[in-house]
Amino acid sequence: MIWNKEMECMSREQMREVQGEKLRKIVAHAYSNSPFYKQRLDEHGVHPSDIKTIDDIVKLPFTVKQDLRDNYPFGLMAVPMSDIIRLHASSGTTGKPIVVGYTRTDLDNWSEAVARCLTAFGLGKNDLVQISYGYGLFTGGLGAHAGVQKIGATVIPTSSGNTQKQMQLMQDFGTTALACTPSYAMYMSDELQKAGITLDRLKLRVGIFGAEPWTEAMRQELQKKLGVKAYDIYGLTEISGPGVGSECECQCGTHIWEDLYYPEIIDPVTLKPVEPGQKGELVFTTLDKWGMPMLRYRTRDLTTLNYEKCDCGRTCVRMGKIMGRSDDMMIVRGVNVFPSQIESILLEFPEYEPYFLIEVDRVNNTDTFDIQVEVKPEFYTDRINELVRIRQRLTSRIQSVIGIQPNIKIVQPNTIERSTGKAKRAIDHRKFE
Ligand code: ADP
Ligand code: ZN
Repeated sequence: MIWNKEMECMSREQMREVQGEKLRKIVAHAYSNSPFYKQRLDEHGVHPSDIKTIDDIVKLPFTVKQDLRDNYPFGLMAVPMSDIIRLHASSGTTGKPIVVGYTRTDLDNWSEAVARCLTAFGLGKNDLVQISYGYGLFTGGLGAHAGVQKIGATVIPTSSGNTQKQMQLMQDFGTTALACTPSYAMYMSDELQKAGITLDRLKLRVGIFGAEPWTEAMRQELQKKLGVKAYDIYGLTEISGPGVGSECECQCGTHIWEDLYYPEIIDPVTLKPVEPGQKGELVFTTLDKWGMPMLRYRTRDLTTLNYEKCDCGRTCVRMGKIMGRSDDMMIVRGVNVFPSQIESILLEFPEYEPYFLIEVDRVNNTDTFDIQVEVKPEFYTDRINELVRIRQRLTSRIQSVIGIQPNIKIVQPNTIERSTGKAKRAIDHRKFE
């Protein structure tokens, strides 16, 4: 079942050897072939000869998203453009898009990473995988596609959107695994229910969900509604795309494919490594990506790393669920608010749908904190008292978890925009000069 037993199951000492060896090579490559990295390392007073073991990684300067924007589009490439055989760009959830280029080796390594994820989900050549991540510049569709081909399963390349057709094909073809964002999976499950398509008419057994934060409560909901085991898959454009890591059958943390992508957790303020197991910002160094190597790239994603061996037999480090990006975190009336907190609270209530939109503004020097929510049609009653009671319970629950009182607005069923890709769950209207 394990795709690459050697790399996924080696001892920590061996892994550190492999990582040290690869780090030396990639730093030398970046320094000699990318004017950006040469200048960065020179300014920082580090030379490739200073990198001997994986521990020396802390000597390297960080790379940030702004570096990619400043060098748009091709300024970080470390090979001639004639060796770049694919370009992708981030979906631009935050700010201007950034561009990445891949050599043939890079694409091979990336598909190997995705193949490891899919194998960890128990998928193989008898599976039919419907890829409802968007195809195009976004890495989700084509990234998953290459991994499915690599394990020899059947690709159904539907891309995102056109939900009615997706549902039709899912039934007709007997799709066994669905790959899409958890928000799209939720939307699709609702549409299936509306269309009266019951689970016994589907052959779905695995959900390949990622590209945005989602909670454990959301997992339970999706597993129930779609009759699948729902697995988390993680990645980001700068580091390759989806498949930097994923859960295994234990569903107890996301294994990072550490021979390809070296993870660190730092304190986002001091930029120093945190104590093992502590939460902080995830940083990646690509150990085997040549077109556009990333040295100590700050992801802005907040999580933890756990080096204990997993019950599945893999030794690759496990990452905790991503709480959200530091960019997603809003400070409202001095308190940190993550959209994922609202998601898990809503799912505690049988009356509410898991769709919501947070809007924050500043009026008379005070932050407003509005949350639009929908109640399920069967709870959407004309009895105003009933709605007031439901609303009050949600308000108190959010206040007790987050520490500030939200203004809950119950809107008509189906008002909040459904997403076929990454959901937009918060809008900050405040202007910070
Ligand atoms: P964009 O930055 O435009 O959204 P990407 O598609 O590269 O473009 O997004 C990568 C980001 O998506 C990650 O840094 C992370 O914040 C989020 N992400 C991806 N997979 C997951 C996941 N499984 N869980 C939580 N967040 C995820
Ligand atoms: Zn495992």
